[in-house]
Parts: sequence; C-alpha cells; structure tokens
Amino acid sequence: MRSFSIHVGRLFGVEVRLHLTFLILPLFVFWTEYNTKHPANGARDLALVGIVLACVAAHEIGHMLVARRTGLIPKAVILLPLGGVTVFDESRIEKPDSAEAAWKREVSIALTGPLVNIAFAMIAAAVILSTNRGAHLGEWPFLLSRNLPRSLVWANLYIAGFNLLPAYPLDGGRVLRAFFARSIDSAAATRRAVSISHAIAMILMVAGLFSINHWLTVVGVIIFSAAQLEERAVIFQSVLDNVRLEEVMLTDFATLSPADTLEDALEKAVHSLQDDFPVVRGSDMVGVISRQRILEALRMEGNGYVQAVMNKLFEVSARKESLASAFRKLTSRNLSIIPVVEDQRLVGIVTLQNLMHSMALLAESRKLRRDEENS
Ligand SMILES: [Zn+2]
Repeated sequence: MRSFSIHVGRLFGVEVRLHLTFLILPLFVFWTEYNTKHPANGARDLALVGIVLACVAAHEIGHMLVARRTGLIPKAVILLPLGGVTVFDESRIEKPDSAEAAWKREVSIALTGPLVNIAFAMIAAAVILSTNRGAHLGEWPFLLSRNLPRSLVWANLYIAGFNLLPAYPLDGGRVLRAFFARSIDSAAATRRAVSISHAIAMILMVAGLFSINHWLTVVGVIIFSAAQLEERAVIFQSVLDNVRLEEVMLTDFATLSPADTLEDALEKAVHSLQDDFPVVRGSDMVGVISRQRILEALRMEGNGYVQAVMNKLFEVSARKESLASAFRKLTSRNLSIIPVVEDQRLVGIVTLQNLMHSMALLAESRKLRRDEENS
C-alpha cells in the first residue's frame, strides 16, 4: 500500500500520503462531465477533486483523533479516493484491558470517520439551503463540477455510505469483525468478516459488469484484495500474540564463558549454527556476543577475552512471554538475541534468525490445522 503513495506533508504530527489511485479521480470527473454532454472545465474539475480529497481527509482525521485518545499512535495516513488507511505505530500499541474495552475502542474509531462526513454533509446542506436557492441538492448527478456546493454535500454522503458497507476492511466491516470477536477469537472473527467482504465485493463486481457504471467493478476488485491483505496481516499478528517463547525457543544451544579467549570463542562458533551466543558465568547470564563481533574484535584488536568485547546490556524474557513481545524487544533495541530465563537460570535463547524460521513453520502448521478443521 505504502509503495503506491507519495508523501504530501504532515498533519497533527502524522505523515500524510496520497495514494496514486487519486490520479484516477480527475479521469472519472472528466468521464462524468463528458456523459452529461457539457464541455469540461479544468478549474472546476480540479475543485471537485479537491472537495473529494478534503472529505477523505476529514474522515481520516476523525478516525485518527479518536484512535489517539484511546491509546493508538497513528504514524501515517494514506488517502485514497474512497477513504483512507491509517498506519499505527506497532511498537507503541497499548492493548485494551478487556474484551469489552477492545470492542468499544474498535467501534468508536470505525464509526467516527463516517459520522464526521455525515455531520459535514448536514452542515453544508443547511448552509447551502439557507443561502443559495439554485443548488437543487436532490438532483442527479449528485457529483458534478458545475454544481460544487451540491457536490460537497454528496461527496460526504457517498464517502460515509461507502465506508459503512459491512465489507472488511471498510469501517462497517470493522464493526462487524469487532462484533464477531466478542464471541470467537480474533483470527476467526477476521476470517468470517473477510468472507462476507468477499461476497459483497463479488456482488459489486458482477453488478458493475451489468450496469452502465463499470466503476462498481473496480471498487469490488479493490475491496476484494484489501480484505485479503488485511486477513494475512491479522493472522500473522495472532500467531505473534498467541505463541509463547517456550514453544519456539532454542533449548539446545552453545554458550561462551567470559574467561574464554576470542580464538576459543571463534573455534566454538565454527562448530555451531548459532550466530549469537549467551555468555554465562556459572549459572548467571552476564552478556551476549555475536559471531560477527568476535570476528571484528579479532581483526581489529587481536586475541583478547570475551569479557572485554561482549555486550553487557541485554534484555531477558520469560518462558510464557509472547512472540510479539520478543519481537518488540528485538526490533526496538536492535538486538539479535534474547535469552529466556526462569528463576534467573538460562533455559533457552530466541534469536531473530530462529524467530523468522519458526514463524514460517507456525503459519504453515496453523494453515494445515485449519484446512483439516474445514474438511
Ligand atoms: Zn474510515
């Protein structure tokens, strides 16, 4: 999603990006103008595109402000012609304390976007009706560059209506998923919401083919692929949340002693597949060191002791901690190994290399299990 968008600025400290599909919008405007057999007017067409952009921005700002109030930190927002996508800072997400709180947060964030648009449409309509008698708010076509006030009202209503479709990942679909998640786990809730979304997308695609308005088909295709992308991300996240370190940690691993010389250490490293080693004195963890660091130190300073070059600042985790928390520790501090301890005793290690590997295996085995359940 990110790669098809361009940076346009910052708003409330959040990066704002414009999705390249916004370039299709002027074409759409020209096409509708052409259909009404009136000469296109460049400045007015551009103003109409600007109105749509403003409506989408207002919608996303609504989501963002509520999200921030409930403890989610928005990092970037990508504006698309029919809505937007807010990217949150994964490393700073606060988990709600209860399922009830999670449901409330999800629903209030999702509904605020469409509500902002409905409020704007109502305000705009009230202002127009009281000042301008020639706007004909109820006349077709609702979006028309020759009638910008009417377009302002209807662009807001269209965006609100479209986003309220119960087609995940649209706002309406998010509410539906949150509703399912009250009784089943989050991955299963997502799968159910995604199948409903796929059905709606199919209906739009087919309806688009049989009507004069082929844009419905395009919208259907977009919803279909967005739903699939989100499903994958959620399943990845649920693996991260539900797997405990004890299920994936390496229990058969080599350790070094601080009294080892670097040449001894390299000798041991050669006979192991590990890239990173815990350094242990007696039964105490005293540091970590990587194969890379051993090589560098040998090259730069000649032979010495592990004690002098090992990294004494490291994070430890407990057996029952989730993969998600280990991932956060590894990535936020740029570590490559986390020792797993129990009663201050080293019971295993988790390395980035081994996490990547086990993630792939876990995802695969869950898929197999799911296929078995379904058949
Ligand atoms: Zn929305």
